[in-house]
Amino acid sequence: MDIFFEVPKDVKITSPSTDKLYDVIIAGSGPAGMTASVYCSRKKLDTLLITKDVGGQVVWTSGIENYMGYQYITGRDLSEKFYQQIEQFPISLLKDVGPCHLEKLENKFAVNCGEKKYYSKSVIVATGKRNRELGVNGEKELLGRGVTYCSVCDAPLFKDKIVAIIGGGNSALTAAIDLISYASKIFIINILDNLQGDEVFLDKIKNSNKAEIILSSEVSKIKGTEKVEGITVKNRKTSQIREIELDGVFIEVGLMPNSEFANNLLNMNDQKEIVVDCNCKTSIDGIFACGDVTAVLDKQIIIACGEGAKAALSAYRYLLGIK
Ligand SMILES: Cc1cc2nc3c(=O)[nH]c(=O)nc-3n(C[C@H](O)[C@H](O)[C@H](O)COP(=O)(O)OP(=O)(O)OC[C@H]3O[C@@H](n4cnc5c(N)ncnc54)[C@H](O)[C@@H]3O)c2cc1C
Repeated sequence: MDIFFEVPKDVKITSPSTDKLYDVIIAGSGPAGMTASVYCSRKKLDTLLITKDVGGQVVWTSGIENYMGYQYITGRDLSEKFYQQIEQFPISLLKDVGPCHLEKLENKFAVNCGEKKYYSKSVIVATGKRNRELGVNGEKELLGRGVTYCSVCDAPLFKDKIVAIIGGGNSALTAAIDLISYASKIFIINILDNLQGDEVFLDKIKNSNKAEIILSSEVSKIKGTEKVEGITVKNRKTSQIREIELDGVFIEVGLMPNSEFANNLLNMNDQKEIVVDCNCKTSIDGIFACGDVTAVLDKQIIIACGEGAKAALSAYRYLLGIK
């Protein structure tokens, strides 16, 4: 096999410093942020990657068939490979951070993470998306005790149990497919009159004798004291109420952007996604954004990676003073 460049093996990830002025701070370590890190580092930019977790949504994905180079790979394995790639470059990494926010100072930027502040000449926002909450009684109280947002993580815990999946898009359908192998029965409850996911997922679900689909209905309450014991479902057309006894509730009602990081600073669309131009520039010079947190329409791993690369190269040009 041809080797196109030497991978530096002697350099490792270092700890972050509050005293330095980094060339670039990248917020978020999903596909977009990790790709941006590799590109920034290979341009010899002094790079700090600040993130809540490593991997982002990819870790929640069971199987990936549309990332080039792999006919099939699990989300965890792909994230691991991305991480191994950034590990080879001299970046600083701050992970497992709580909420941080971005500030614009006179000639630099600050990322404020509670008691500590980190400074840079430019910033790449790659904070992606998180699960949308349902907003019903019992959801917060029973989180981790039967209520979950991650079928990839939690499906095996519901072996031979009865579960409900709330939602009707691809996330809900892939959760249903994950759960068909474990649960004894699954209810798929959607507020709309039909399921909107891909045909290939719908076929798998319809061919299973474990799935019951309840349409035009919403969950109004998740019941239980120590753990989930049931849900109350209301039909939106007939107002009929149905009580269902079950053990688990998987909430898959969509995603929302983690753009609070740059709140009140950047132009956003009505869904709170950061508006960028075709070079990942935001409304403020020196701040770039990429991946699912942006208003770019398609949300896919390969697109997030491509946008991450573009954001890094734009930041590089900005730092060189090239407009
Ligand atoms: C269930 C599911 C299945 C999917 N399946 C596929 C598939 O098969 N193929 C495909 O191409 N795509 C798939 N996707 C979409 C794909 O995962 C996303 O498009 C991609 O992960 C977006 O990458 P990102 O880096 O922009 O954001 P994310 O992956 O969301 O990563 C964001 C990162 O930012 C961090 N972060 C968040 N807030 C902050 C903050 N304030 N400060 C610091 N760090 C922060 C997070 O911890 C995370 O590390 C799937 C998504 C889901 C939910």
